Parts: sequence; C-alpha cells; structure tokens
Amino acid sequence: MIDLTIHVALEKLKKGEISATELTRAHLDRIEKLGGDLNAYITTTPERALADAAAADARYKNGTARALEGIPIGMKDLFATRGIRTTAASHMLENFVPEYESTVSQKFIDSGSVLLGKTNLDEFAMGTFSKTSYFGAPVNPWQIERKLTAGGSSGGSTSAVAGGLAMGATGTDTGGSIRFPSAITGLVGMKPTYGLCSRWGCVAFASSLDTPGPIARTVDDAALLLSVMAGHDEKDSTSESAGFNAHTPLESILGDGKKLRIGVIRELNDVAISDDMKKLFNARIADLKSLGAEIVEVSIPNILDALAAYYIIAPAEASSNLARYDGMRYGLRVEGSDLIDTYKKTRAAGFGTEVQRRMIVGTAVLSSESYEVYFMQAARVRRMIADSFNAAFEQCDLIICPTSSGTAMPLDSDLSPLEYYALDMFTVAMNLAGIPACSVPAGLAGNGLPLGLQVVGKRFDDLRVLQLAKHIEQFAGVDNRPTKIMGK
Ligand code: GLN
Repeated sequence: MIDLTIHVALEKLKKGEISATELTRAHLDRIEKLGGDLNAYITTTPERALADAAAADARYKNGTARALEGIPIGMKDLFATRGIRTTAASHMLENFVPEYESTVSQKFIDSGSVLLGKTNLDEFAMGTFSKTSYFGAPVNPWQIERKLTAGGSSGGSTSAVAGGLAMGATGTDTGGSIRFPSAITGLVGMKPTYGLCSRWGCVAFASSLDTPGPIARTVDDAALLLSVMAGHDEKDSTSESAGFNAHTPLESILGDGKKLRIGVIRELNDVAISDDMKKLFNARIADLKSLGAEIVEVSIPNILDALAAYYIIAPAEASSNLARYDGMRYGLRVEGSDLIDTYKKTRAAGFGTEVQRRMIVGTAVLSSESYEVYFMQAARVRRMIADSFNAAFEQCDLIICPTSSGTAMPLDSDLSPLEYYALDMFTVAMNLAGIPACSVPAGLAGNGLPLGLQVVGKRFDDLRVLQLAKHIEQFAGVDNRPTKIMGK
C-alpha cells in the first residue's frame, strides 16, 4: 500500500478496495519501522491520524468524500497546527504549541487528508541539507546505508515521501527548499507563483520570497496537492486572488502538432555541472524535441548574481522577522539579570549557529552605512532578474534548467557556509522573480542516485509548468516507489 500514488489510492478508496484506516495504519507502521533511521518527522500524530482516517471512512460511506479524503500526508514543521507543537526545528520553539491553524494546514484539514505528523527541516528553513535542525538531520532513503542528505530545508518532507512515510507533504521554498530536496530524492517538488499559496500561519523566514508548495512522487499528485493548497487568503496581504484548479490527470501540452517553445538559459552554460546532469539534461531536451518542441536560447544576464542578491535580501528579511523571538511572549526564555540580558541569553541559547549568522549578516546589510551599497543594490539586481525573465517569456513559453549540479551528498560532507550557499545556484533566481518552478526527476546518475530538472514559467503559469514537467517525468521514467528505493 505504501507504493500507491495519491491518485491510485483515491481510486481504490472510492471503490472501497481499501479503507483510509488501512492506508493510514500502513503508513504509521512504516513510520514506526523506519522513522528512527530516517528522522523525517519531528513530531508524529498517530492518534490524530487514526481519528482523521475514521472520519474519512465515514465520509466514503455516506458519499461526502472530499479532494484528499483519507490520504496520509506530512506537514512541514513550519506550518502552525492548532494544539500540535510547531518547532521550525529550533530550540527557540521546541515547546511552542500554537492556538491557531495555518491557512495551508487548514486547507488540508478541509480536504479530508490525514495528518501523520510534522516533518523535519533546517532551523527556520535556513539551510540546504536540513543539518541545521535542532532535532538532527533527516536521511535520504536512497542508498540509506550511505547516510546521504535528503536536502533542505524541506528535507524531512522529502525523506518522508521518498521513504513511504507519507504519500505527499508540504514544503516551503524561499531559495530552493522545495526543489533541491525533491531533486535529490527522486521526487516532484513545486514552488508555485509567489502569493498563490497563503503564508498565513507559516513561520516567516524571508517574507518576500517564502512560498509554500507541494512535494509528491508524481506530477499529477503534486498538481492535486497544489489545488488544495492554493487560493486567496485575506489574512495574507501578499496572497493573490488567483486559485489553482488542475483537472488531474494533467493534459499533455506536447505532441499532436502542439507547438511549444522551450527556453534554455545561455548564462547557465558557464556554470559547472556534473557530466551526469549534462547528459540527462541533453537527453530530456532531445525527448521534448522529438514531440515537436522548439528549443530557443534565452538570456537572463544577471542570473549569476542571483545568489549574491539572495544572500543579502533573505538574511535582511530574516533579521527583521526573527526579532520577535525575544523570550517575552512565547518560545524559549532564559532569565537574565535585566531585560536586555534576558533578550541576549534567550536569543543566544535559542538560535543555532546558522540562524545567528543570518541575523548578523541581515542586520549588517540593513545598517545605515550598508543599506545603499548592499541591500538596495541587491534589490536592483532582483528587479533586473525579474525583468529579464519577463523578456525571456516573450521568446519562449517555458524554460528548463537543472535543479542542482549533482546528486545527494553525504550528510557528513564538510562544507563551508559559502559552499552550502553555492548549492542554491539554480534555484534562487525564481524566488527573486516570484515565478513558478517545478523540479521533476530527470533520470538516474551513474551512481544510481536521482537528478532533477526544473520547469520554469511566467507568473501564474503554474499549470503549464506542471504539464511540461509531466512530459519530462514520463521520458525519465524514474522508479521512485519507496519499497524499490529502500529495498523493503
Ligand atoms: N538553501 C537556501 C537557504 O539556506 C534556501 C532555503 C529555503 O528555501 N528555505 O537560504
């Protein structure tokens, strides 16, 4: 049952071939068996899951089943869940139990899904290997004995979905945190258009970049999850009025004489990528051409400056967003000799090294001496990148590019902060531009590990992004069934 896609499971639930309770128990058993090795969850909610499942079974009986009725999912532990602790993988929020429900998690409740638990991540979603988690890093289910990273920051979600510890999960993507972890675990991860999914009740990292989105094993499943997550929310002032209603399975946008212009970014030719990535990229381009796609070269002149701009803007916003953790209202409090001392002791004890580094950098670039040279300059680069993407989409319908240069690395790789930041090379530009991008399996590298390609579209072209991703998924044919990946 673990290997079923969401679409197939829904069919079986509708026909009464399986029950939501059986499906949920199968996932809870797997969490029990493998949860310790994978460290995918920070908090599991088995009682809630079984109650959700029983309610779902009742709805199948009385004919009121909803879009995800009875589907067991994982929720990134950045989304506030009422009555269930929400930690952001930080010591600061280790014992924080929200009294409210985030909009995204509420939408999952309203769609009838079953909550298995809260998935692990980098502390406050800052990181690339999920190693900054206060609860230890999640592990990649592929070649598990090698202890590879499941990516970050949504690494608990990808570990859970790839390992069969959830049928789908939520992620958030500020600079690549849905796409990179999905790529290196053989999954589909969609960063939607900024504003399509509400950020309300999601612990803030960099508000102008933070984008909730789905992680699943197939493009059709990701599209279904996104249909549930998306929609205007008056509680989030940057939420857009557009919704997303995919009729799944998704229709094809290639073949049968349909013309599609696919852009490849000239400047990315200069970026070093692994031979495997090069090979798979070229193979998938050839496949798409065989269906009649036209390949056009486009230029995003400042794309190589995206990393620098991102690592100014994101820390700047983080330093402001994380000012609220002061030990006064909620979260950790370490008593000091006076008010200032209490702030200092609380923040020194509550935040890990990477989060502290970001706040120091962020505060520095916002200081009066640096604001114009760093922050405003980064804001201008951001504008130029967004404008170049708009211009590129006059010449092509969609763009494809790698999600990462190589496959999953060992968790004990000794990388400097700058080396970690450089891994976001292919993902941050889309956040700066606010445009949709989906990572989809492109094939397996010579070492047997998965690699991903991104499909990128203009704002609100999320549906076409997923449609093209589906073609790539079909050509790649990566078998990502959890029992296949894990050999059990
Ligand atoms: N790796 C990036 C960072 O550390 C992206 C994180 C994210 O998207 N949340 O900032």
